[in-house]
Amino acid sequence: APVSAPDYLANLNAEQREAVETLDGPLLVLAGAGTGKTRVLTTRLAHLLQVKAQTEHLHPQQILAVTFTNRAAKEMQERVAHALGHPVEGWWLGTFHSLAARLLRRHAELIGLQSNFSILDSDDQVRLLKQIMDAEQIDQKKWPAKQLMGIIQRWKDKGLSPDRVNESVEFANGGAKYLYKVYQQRLSVLNAADFGDLLLHCLTLFQKHPEILRRYQETFRYILVDEYQDTNVAQYLWLRALAMVHRNICCVGDDDQAIYSWRGAEVGNILRFESDFPGAKVVKLEQNYRSTPHILAAASKLITFNDGRLGKELWTELDTGEKVFVKGVWDGPAEARLVGEDIEALQSKGIGAAKMAILVRAGFQTREFEERLITLGIPYRVIGGPRFYERHEIRDALAYVRMVAQPDDSLAFERIINVPKRGVGKATLQILHQYSRDQSVSLPMAARDLIGTEELKPKMRQAIGGLLGDFTRWREMLTNRSHVEVLETVLDESGYTDMWRTSKEIEAAGRLENLKELVSAIGEYENLTTFLEHVSLVMENEQNTDQEKVTIMTLHGAKGLEFDYVFLPGWEEGVFPHQRAMDESGVKGLEEERRLAYVGITRARKRATVSYAANRRIYNQWQSALPSRFVDELPDEHIERISDTGLGGHGGNHSPGAWGSDDWMKMPSWADETPRRDSYGSGGSKTGSGGSSTGGERRFASAGWQDRVRKNVIDVK
Ligand code: ATP
Ligand code: MG
Repeated sequence: APVSAPDYLANLNAEQREAVETLDGPLLVLAGAGTGKTRVLTTRLAHLLQVKAQTEHLHPQQILAVTFTNRAAKEMQERVAHALGHPVEGWWLGTFHSLAARLLRRHAELIGLQSNFSILDSDDQVRLLKQIMDAEQIDQKKWPAKQLMGIIQRWKDKGLSPDRVNESVEFANGGAKYLYKVYQQRLSVLNAADFGDLLLHCLTLFQKHPEILRRYQETFRYILVDEYQDTNVAQYLWLRALAMVHRNICCVGDDDQAIYSWRGAEVGNILRFESDFPGAKVVKLEQNYRSTPHILAAASKLITFNDGRLGKELWTELDTGEKVFVKGVWDGPAEARLVGEDIEALQSKGIGAAKMAILVRAGFQTREFEERLITLGIPYRVIGGPRFYERHEIRDALAYVRMVAQPDDSLAFERIINVPKRGVGKATLQILHQYSRDQSVSLPMAARDLIGTEELKPKMRQAIGGLLGDFTRWREMLTNRSHVEVLETVLDESGYTDMWRTSKEIEAAGRLENLKELVSAIGEYENLTTFLEHVSLVMENEQNTDQEKVTIMTLHGAKGLEFDYVFLPGWEEGVFPHQRAMDESGVKGLEEERRLAYVGITRARKRATVSYAANRRIYNQWQSALPSRFVDELPDEHIERISDTGLGGHGGNHSPGAWGSDDWMKMPSWADETPRRDSYGSGGSKTGSGGSSTGGERRFASAGWQDRVRKNVIDVK
C-alpha cells in the first residue's frame, strides 16, 4: 500500500474521493452544477494511470474517456499531465465523434468503406440527398432535401440503420425510409460517412462482427464519460456495448443540465444506468465549489419550478458574496451599455477580461454586445461561431446593402448575383469578368453593358437584367422611404429572406433571427452609408490575439465552463424562454429552457447579472417586452433588483452614471405617468407562483401606451 496518498487526491472531498478511488465496477456520479464532476473524472484518469499502471499493467490505450467538446478533451489532457507530472499518450480521449471515427477507420472495410473515408458536412449531405431525390423524381418543393436530412439524422441519433427503421414519417408519401437506404448506399460508393454514421457504423460493426466488439470490450478496461445527461441513444448503445465485459464505466452528469434533447439527447440514459449495470454504485456530490451562496441559491430555486427532477441539495462553504443582480433596463442598447459599464468597472478594479462572459440564448443577441465592446475598446471573442458581421447570411445581406448604396461594388455584386439562385453560373461570371477587365469597368457596369448584347444568353440577360432593374428601383425607393424599410424590401423582394425561410437546414431559424437583428441594427444609423461605414470599422477592428478577452457565447456552448463574472442578458418572454422552444415542445420545451437558465446562472463564480429590456427593436419597430418568467422565479432574498426602465418606481439603487446621459434624454417626458402592468396579461402564461409578491415595479406598460412610445422613439430618432 502506498505510504501517503498522491497529491491530487488531497484536493478532493470525501465523496469525490470515493468516486475517484472506486476504480472497479460501474459508477454513476449524479450531481448538480459545480460540484466537481469534471474534476472527479480528471482525477480519476490520473489515479487510474498512477495506481493501475503499476499494479495491473494498465496502459493508456486501455482507457476510453468521452468529453462533450474537443476543447474539454484538450483541457483534460493538460490537467491529467499536470497531476501526473508527465504527458499521457495513446489513450482514447475525445468526443463521441472523434473516438468513433478513430475506431471506425481501423475497420472501415468491414462496413463497406475504406479507411480514408471522408466525413461529409451538412452541405455535402444535402447535395447528395438532392441528387438522389432528383433521380427518384421527388418533388423537392414539397419535400425539401433538408427536411429529409433532419429525419435521417434523427434516425441515426436513435441508432437506427435503414433496415431497423420501422416508424413511418410523413415525407415523400412514406418514402423516407427507402431514400435513407439509397443515401447510405451512395455514401458507401463515395467512400464517405456523415457525422451520424460515425456512431451508427460502429454499432453495425459491433453487431456484425462480435469478435471485433469483443476485442474492444477487452481493450477498454476503463470507460469514463462527462456530461452523460446529454448522450443520445446511439451514443448510449455504443458505450453500453463497449462497457459490457469489464463493466468499469464511470459516467458523470446532472439531469438538471440536460439541454440537448433537440439534438436527440435522452436524459433517460441517466435513469437507466442502474438497471443496465446492476450493482452500480451511485455517488452524489452536494458541495458546490464554484459559486457563492446567493448564486447557488438563486439557481437552485429556479430549477425547482421543473417537474420530474431527480432532485438534489447543494451547499457551499464559500463566502456569502454578492446577490444575483437582476437589472431591468429601457431597451437593448441600454442593456448593452450597462453590461459594457459593468465590464469597465471591473477592469478598473484590475479584473481581467478573461474572467468575464456574456451568455446569450440565441446567436443573434451577440450583435449588440459586440458593438458596445468595440466602441469601448474592450477585446472580446465569440466562441462557437463567427462574430456577428462575419456570419454567412449577414455578409450576404450586407452585399445587397452595398449594391444599393454603392452601385459599382464589384465584390458585393459577385457575392449575390446568384444568391438566391438565379441560374447564373461560372460561365456567365467569366464573361462578365472578362469584359470588366477589358473595359476597365466594374462588374455591375459590365453586366449593365452586356445585358443588351448577344454576349449573354437570353436567359442570363433576363435574370441579370431583372436583378439590375431591382437595384435601380430599390435605390429610387431611398428618396421617399426610410433606409430601414428599403432594406426590408430588398431582403424580401430579392427572395433572400425566403431562401432561408424555406430552408430546412437546422441553422435556418437562427439565420433568420440574425437577419432580423441586422435590420434592427441598421435602424440605429442615419442612412445606409453611415451604417456601412460603421460596419467596415467594426470589421477592421483586428483583435490582438494575446490580449485578455471577454467571452461571448451561447448558453448551450457554455456548458461545463465557469467564469468569475457572468452576464445573462435578454431574459424576456419569447427570447428566453425562447418562443420556438415553447411552441414546438410545450411544457417540455419550457423545462429545457429553464435548465438552460440553470446552466447559465451556475456558470458564475463570483457574480451573476441577469438583465432584461422593456423594449426591443424588432425590424424597424419597437416592441414592448415582458420580463422572463424565470426572472420571477428567482428568490427575492438572493437577488438584488435594479430596475431602471424609465417607468419610475425603480429602487434608485443603481450606481450614479449607470446611464448614458444622452439616451436618458430621449425618454419621453410623460413616461412616468404611464400605467403599469400587474401581470403578464395575455402575453405569456405564468408557471409557478414564484414572484407574484414582487410588485409591479418591473412590469411594463399596456399595449396602448407602448404604441405611443413606439411612435415617439422613432420620431425622436
Ligand atoms: P458542471 O456541472 O458545471 O459541469 P462540475 O460538477 O463538472 O460542474 P467542476 O467543473 O469539476 O464541476 O468543478 C467546479 C469548480 O470547483 C472547479 O473550479 C473545480 O476546480 C472546483 N472544485 C471541485 N472540487 C473541488 C474541491 N474538492 N476543492 C476545491 N475546488 C474544487
Ligand atoms: Mg463539468
